[in-house]
Amino acid sequence: MTSEKLDLIPVTEWGFFTLPRPMVIAGPCAAESEAQVMETARGLAAFGIHVFRAGIWKPRTHPGSFEGVGIPGLKWLQRAKREYGLYTCTEVASKEHVFACLKYGIDMVWVGARTTANPFLMQEIADALRDTDIPVLVKNPVNPDLELWIGALERLGRAGIRKLGVIHRGFSTLQKTPYRNDPGWHVAVELRTRYPELPFFADPSHMGGDRKYLLELSQRAMDLGLEGLMIESHCQPEAALSDARQQLTPEALRILLGEQLTVRDADTQAADYRENIGPLRARIDVIDENILSLLKARMSVSREIGHYKRDHNIAILQTARWDELMEGLLRKGDAEGLDGNFLQALFNVIHQESIRIQNDVLSGGKEPTE
Ligand code: PEP
Ligand code: MN
Repeated sequence: MTSEKLDLIPVTEWGFFTLPRPMVIAGPCAAESEAQVMETARGLAAFGIHVFRAGIWKPRTHPGSFEGVGIPGLKWLQRAKREYGLYTCTEVASKEHVFACLKYGIDMVWVGARTTANPFLMQEIADALRDTDIPVLVKNPVNPDLELWIGALERLGRAGIRKLGVIHRGFSTLQKTPYRNDPGWHVAVELRTRYPELPFFADPSHMGGDRKYLLELSQRAMDLGLEGLMIESHCQPEAALSDARQQLTPEALRILLGEQLTVRDADTQAADYRENIGPLRARIDVIDENILSLLKARMSVSREIGHYKRDHNIAILQTARWDELMEGLLRKGDAEGLDGNFLQALFNVIHQESIRIQNDVLSGGKEPTE
């Protein structure tokens, strides 16, 4: 499946965000009371935050937990905008939410992870947004399915939304990780590669699930060259009605952004940098080409083995042979200072491709022409 081209208006022309990076969206997980919204907004505006988030309708795992204050919260956001000059944004998960946001002059909306995973709801939201020019940020779906994420963007693109961006908030996983959601950065990198123009935010709050991880995850997002961060901040985090552990005070956020985070240039036109990076990139290009031709050679030997096995009626998969081979590779790799997890993942995909080729031979698939 090839993905559709998106016709985008650059994020710097939306009018909310200023450079240098990171472009920051901050505010509580949820609007809880007028006083909490105003107090948090005041603290954030005081150190230069321009874009304020607050959930009005909260998607909760269990019924009966705090599900957001609804429409009254939109009026508090209007007040925060009026008094502190903040642009406001909230999460929408249905057409009713979209219409309410448009009615109350919310400046930007985002689509949450549970909604991105649902094409019916995405279509409903896209239809409700048609012919508006409100910016929309799309969080990744809860599961690491890049196509589902792209599909959501395509639906909005087809509805004429040109101020589009994404928020990477990590993925739900069965594996135990220290984080609430597995960062799965490679999925973000893949999306970035496919849509380099798409404004990219990371949400270290929902990724980490605990404020102690905010700095390392924000740092990683900046090192990957992402444009922005969406971070949950609450005037009294420990008393928050949702996501209490991952929120931090406006003052702690000021320190994180202003004193702890190191932001390196995403790219530069500086001549000396260009001069030095150029030859290094050229070397990488040559090495990558070598890897390609080695892969080609390896796969053609796999095909030959496939023929041989077919002619001798031997099964394709000999796990003992593969285990032995992998063990040897990991030992050699370790001696070369290469990471074991990386090597294992790399050789597993190479092995899978060999098996696919041998299967192909067995089922009489088409031979390559050359
Ligand atoms: C949120 O931003 O408050 C939220 C519910 O996020 P997510 O959709 O990433 O879980
Ligand atoms: Mn939250």
